[in-house]
Amino acid sequence: MTATRVPGVPVIEDGVLISTNPATGEEAGRVPVASEKDVAAAVERAREAGAWWLALGYEGRKDRLLRWRSLIVQRIEELGRLTSLETGKPETDGIMETVAAVEHLDWAPRNAKRVLGPRRVRTRILLAEHSGHLEYQPYGVIGVIGPWNYPIVTPIGPISGALATGNAVVFKPSEYTPIVGQWLVDTFAEVVPEQPVLQAVHGLGDVGAALCRSGADKIAFTGSTATAKKVMAACAENLVPVVIEAGGKDALIVDADADVSAAAEAAVWGGMTNAGQTCIGIERVYAVAPIYDRLVKEIVAKAGKLRTGEEIGPITMPRQIDIIREHIDDALAKGGTAVLGGVDAVQPPYVAPTVLVDVPADSTEIRDETFGPTLTITKVADADEAIRLANDTPYGLGGAVFGKRNAVRIARRLRSGMVSVNSTLTFVGMGNLPFGGVGDSGFGRIHGEDGLREFARPKAITVRRARSLLPSTTFERTPAQVKQIVKAVRMLYGRRS
Ligand code: NDP
Repeated sequence: MTATRVPGVPVIEDGVLISTNPATGEEAGRVPVASEKDVAAAVERAREAGAWWLALGYEGRKDRLLRWRSLIVQRIEELGRLTSLETGKPETDGIMETVAAVEHLDWAPRNAKRVLGPRRVRTRILLAEHSGHLEYQPYGVIGVIGPWNYPIVTPIGPISGALATGNAVVFKPSEYTPIVGQWLVDTFAEVVPEQPVLQAVHGLGDVGAALCRSGADKIAFTGSTATAKKVMAACAENLVPVVIEAGGKDALIVDADADVSAAAEAAVWGGMTNAGQTCIGIERVYAVAPIYDRLVKEIVAKAGKLRTGEEIGPITMPRQIDIIREHIDDALAKGGTAVLGGVDAVQPPYVAPTVLVDVPADSTEIRDETFGPTLTITKVADADEAIRLANDTPYGLGGAVFGKRNAVRIARRLRSGMVSVNSTLTFVGMGNLPFGGVGDSGFGRIHGEDGLREFARPKAITVRRARSLLPSTTFERTPAQVKQIVKAVRMLYGRRS
């Protein structure tokens, strides 16, 4: 039976997932849908492949992962076109996303051995006859569940960390972007043809749920906070650990000594790139009174130049359009003013840039993730008020500060995992910085050293090198030895400083 097709809404026909462009309805491709059994079989295959991959060692894995990186770069325009076809975003956005992704594919394998390799730790006085050793061992099989908004860089973050560490990966791309996901897996297979070290399983949310219960050793989830809770509940059944990269409501603070034009430019780009469908996108701007009017004027002027169908692509997931409309309606109903766009900006599958001022703090436009090309700008008395309002959200993913003298101090006080000073979203492009949030934005980290350790278990080993002078771990210790141990502990740790 043929289901009715709505552009951008994936349909399943005869066990095949058909992905279409949200703006044109053009077919982007087809992939087979995995059953629960298929998912378990993929994890089983991955376990064997993982043992082979681990045996390649850090150098062998580095060689393959850097070859994969190079292959992706050689075919960057193709991936940009495919991403555009499947999500509707401009091709250049797909290309720029790939640029960010390859940074992580380069950094992780080059640094895995240094961060995770075996090392000796300093001997402690009370156990002087033992040497201490630390190494990080991969989990085995990592399940990666990805979203649709950045179908390249969001999965490549955990995939690069997991593979560099020595795990195999079973990847469930979003049902909205399975073709880009499959492209990544297929290109990896060109440089690693021997074993299914990276596999994809496709389908709707139930396939993600099956992956949580499949026997995978850890799940790296990127998506909404609501789904993250379901993932955690499913993983809790078998104590499967998780990394959660969830939604955000990021704020940009503009202080009195900021370069206002640069702040306006960054607010517009940070808020409206990818049509605002960015987890670390700027959704709220807090500007101190002396520069507020100028900032609003410049943001409106710059955002007003953006055209839907050009710089502003369609809303990839059609049902998100209702949420964006509801947020704008709520902001206006509660007393906010649209200084650009507004209700009429919603022209499915597009939403034109919308800038709202005087929006009360209890509006959904301020409280919930909008995920569209909208910005609120709120006037504040000073940086302290800006920080208080910026932090008044259950989310805590990223953020940005524009200013000079106090900008870094303000950045430190933002309750979030990442902040860019005098730019937006920059932290995602640095392979050596961790990426992740606090609160409803999740926990755990991808990227950087912390992102490598996320996919390995620390293993502690002690090796006894000589007879114990102060034996504490034996029934054979004598009362005199206990006295000596206490004396030593008093000397070492009993003093006040
Ligand atoms: P969803 O939470 O809807 O989906 C994310 C992934 O989870 C998809 O692959 C989805 O499959 C899958 N899934 C759905 N239900 C289940 C389930 N019960 N068990 C396991 N997996 C399931 O998020 P979106 O795809 O809509 O992505 C947008 C969200 O992602 C936004 O909130 C955004 O902020 C956030 N995000 C966070 C990032 C971060 O790094 N912190 C980065 C990018 C986005 P299917 O698509 O088939 O339903």
